[in-house]
Order: sequence, then C-alpha cells, then structure tokens
Amino acid sequence: MGLSGQKSFDFATTRLDSIINYCRGASLWPMPFGVACCAIEMMASYMPKYDSSRFGAEVLKFSPRQSDLLIVSGRISLKMMPVLTRIWEQMPEPKWCMSMGACASSGGVFDTYALVQGIDQFIPVDAYIPGCPPRPEAFIDALMMIQEKARNGIQRSRDFTSAAGAGA
Ligand code: SF4
Repeated sequence: MGLSGQKSFDFATTRLDSIINYCRGASLWPMPFGVACCAIEMMASYMPKYDSSRFGAEVLKFSPRQSDLLIVSGRISLKMMPVLTRIWEQMPEPKWCMSMGACASSGGVFDTYALVQGIDQFIPVDAYIPGCPPRPEAFIDALMMIQEKARNGIQRSRDFTSAAGAGA
C-alpha cells in the first residue's frame, strides 16, 4: 500500500525455486540417445522446420554430465541397457527422460528376448511418445510436457528411486 492510500504493484513476491524451475523449463539441455529409425524423426524435430529453439531446447549435449533431458529413441537391446543406465546415472539432478516411439516404450513389434520391453523397467520415464515412428509434432508435444514438469518441479526419477529402494 502506498503512502497516498493507493495500492502499488511495483513489486512481486515469489520463491527462488519457482524462478529457477521456470528457467530450467525454458532451457533444457537434451542428451540424444538415438539407436534406430525413431532417431531420424528426432533429428527431423531439431531441424529448422520444427525449430526446437523456440522451446529453449535446441542445444544437444553429447555429454550426460551436461544434460538434463535424456531422449531415448529406438530399440534398446538388453546388451545396450547397462550403457543407457550408466548414462542416466551420470546426468545430474534434476533430470528428465523421454521415451520416443513404441520400441523404446514397450519393445514395439519386437517381442524378443534380446530387446528391452520398455526402458521404464530400468530408468524412470517422464514422457512417452507413441508412434512408429512418432511425428515431430508428437516430439514437440512431449517436449512441452517435460517443460511443464520442469517448471513445476516434477520428476519421475525421485519416485522411481524411492520405489526401487523400497522394493530392495
Ligand atoms: S518404434 Fe518404429 S520407427 Fe521407432 S525404432 Fe521402433 S520400429 Fe523404428
């Protein structure tokens, strides 16, 4: 309230973590893990036509230690899963994971002993993108979903870790 008795709106109050989360949502640093045909659509999503820089997520990092969003696109074999898990563990918190395509999310049509039937059996997934392969529009939709989670401080990895610990 100002001295003259009129309300003043020259300032706003918020919490520091709200500002930090807002900035995180607008500056995701994705780590691509593309291993099959879905990766082609992931690459297309990063081309100028779809322009991921609109969402502040255009800087692909090929170092897990500099990334906060893991994008898994394609079939993951059981032999490859330890590598993917290691990459996930090397990423600093807070972090998110996107499972792109039917194969990464459920094994897709490859119901075989050699392929992981869903990466969420090993690492937490924050956004699933359906399709074989998904369109770039679906990728962008998932990206916006991750942004929303980042802004609200929601991470599946927290629940996943505690659930794994409880089951051990
Ligand atoms: S979901 Fe379809 S396009 Fe994607 S990796 Fe599997 S077979 Fe290829």
